[in-house]
Amino acid sequence: AFLEKYAKHPHYIPPTGNELNAKSWQTEAPLRMFLNNLCDEVAEDPSNLVVYGGTGQAARDRESLEKIIKILLELDENHSLLVQSGKPVGVVRTHPEAPRVMIANSNLVPAWATWEHFQELKERGLMMYGQMTAGSWIYIGTQGILQGTYETFASCARQHFDGDLKGKLLVTAGMGGMGGAQPLAATMCGAAMLGIDVDPARIQKRIDTKYIDKMTHSYEEAIEWVMEAKENGEALSVGLVGDAGDVLERMIKDGITPDVLTDQTSAHDPVYGYIPNGMTLEEAAALRASDAVLYKEKSLKSMARHVQFMLDLEAKGAVTFDYGNNIREFAKQGGCENAYNFPGFTPAYIRPLFCEGKGPFRWAALSGDPQDIKVTDEALKEAFPENDHLIKWLEEADEKVAFQGLPSRICWLGMGEREKAGVIFNNLVKEGKLKAPIVIGRDHLDCGSVASPNRETESMLDGSDAVSDWPLLNLMSNATGGATWISFHHGGGVGIGFSQHAGMVVLADGTERAENCIKRVLHNDPAMGIFRHHDAGYDIATKVGEDHDLIIK
Ligand code: NAD
Repeated sequence: AFLEKYAKHPHYIPPTGNELNAKSWQTEAPLRMFLNNLCDEVAEDPSNLVVYGGTGQAARDRESLEKIIKILLELDENHSLLVQSGKPVGVVRTHPEAPRVMIANSNLVPAWATWEHFQELKERGLMMYGQMTAGSWIYIGTQGILQGTYETFASCARQHFDGDLKGKLLVTAGMGGMGGAQPLAATMCGAAMLGIDVDPARIQKRIDTKYIDKMTHSYEEAIEWVMEAKENGEALSVGLVGDAGDVLERMIKDGITPDVLTDQTSAHDPVYGYIPNGMTLEEAAALRASDAVLYKEKSLKSMARHVQFMLDLEAKGAVTFDYGNNIREFAKQGGCENAYNFPGFTPAYIRPLFCEGKGPFRWAALSGDPQDIKVTDEALKEAFPENDHLIKWLEEADEKVAFQGLPSRICWLGMGEREKAGVIFNNLVKEGKLKAPIVIGRDHLDCGSVASPNRETESMLDGSDAVSDWPLLNLMSNATGGATWISFHHGGGVGIGFSQHAGMVVLADGTERAENCIKRVLHNDPAMGIFRHHDAGYDIATKVGEDHDLIIK
């Protein structure tokens, strides 16, 4: 009956309200968030169990999905479920403060870690791609990346312009699950924004969810709209249907240089993500099925061409950066020798935040009631009255973000702040001020949870970019600290072979057990960012670490 009501393929619905379907909130929470990842408003392609980020899935196949649901409905607090690349493979004996679900997705022994080998295993039904929050059940729709994108654009504006992007033209491509946050983040910073995507359905989804203002198939019309907005200092976002490379080529020809230029096409996956230049979506799908090797060749060449235009525009003055999709790597493989001439966004804009233990803290209201998020927003404004940046963000988000699936919120909080917020949320549940418990999690893209040399750990001060002991230590701390579910993935963001990262979600159900777990997990998790960056030689991390008594003398 549960499957019939909440998980009738391909229409998945997270249960809401205060009634339990599972035996406790500890299993009800992952069950709701699992289904939330797949619900129509959240997932990019629920019929293939794909949540976002190219082919990032929540479960390996329908059979695995049904079994995960069945086990979560029956699991007690002395057992935990093991999930291997989206398939439930065992239940182990644990205890009430242990994680209820432990997930490992897409991990391969390093010498075998290529897309080709992964794909072979995937085709044989042995693996799935977990991306970051798809396979770890804490994706909250495009809002999840919205604040990170906003922080990045705002930091770019502070470094290169007068603190905002008013009167500036920002050009990017890829309006998918994550990339679709760019138009709203750009207009929040005041920009005139052009977002290119080959797939009109993706842009339409951003129109429907209020992330983008206007859409057109005409290059001339798009340019006219954004140039007028730039002139008038108006914030406006325009989605243009087209190939990213083609549009940039045309802009160069027409002498139009963006002030800021980046890209979020799903370049991390040259076969199942990026669409080669000159192909329709149908032609691309047919070639992918008939000749994946030729597809990849075309894809790499197209990325080389695309990145070359980005380099040409950078030479004309556009502030250009890689936005975490590994496009420089694949462009280089496709023949663009100088692809790495523009920086990645982490060293350029995000690392100083990581040094303070700041990262994409997020929470979701299991009640399904948007009012619960309002209550948490207000509680945070009261708890951090001195933090103007946070308050501005919460107010903007309240006004402009349309919820997808279970109502949720994201904001970047640092060392000390995350624990404080978590305890506040748990108390709100205990005092009956919220209609049901809250889950608190984060992206794997965080200060101390990821090794990704072309992205989060690019150009570390001590050259330790590829050391992946750190995410493993993060996983161990969160497992023993008592996160409610934990995950370790490979290949998120930048693709197979290029990253390893850990995730966690902790439940605030108003109990003392939850408070104990929250105090450990939300202390240890950002502390990992301090340890990591202090060890690599970043002075801010040492300073913040000393303030919080974290530095081993
Ligand atoms: P997605 O698959 O949902 O969307 C990608 C979009 O790119 C699709 O809409 C597709 O139509 C479009 N596209 C593909 N080839 C194109 C081309 N040649 N020209 C124009 N459009 C093209 O992926 P997503 O979730 O939006 O993620 C995008 C990328 O960003 C991925 O590589 C992902 O790993 C990366 N990412 C970055 C961050 C970050 O913080 N910077 C976070 C998560 C993901």
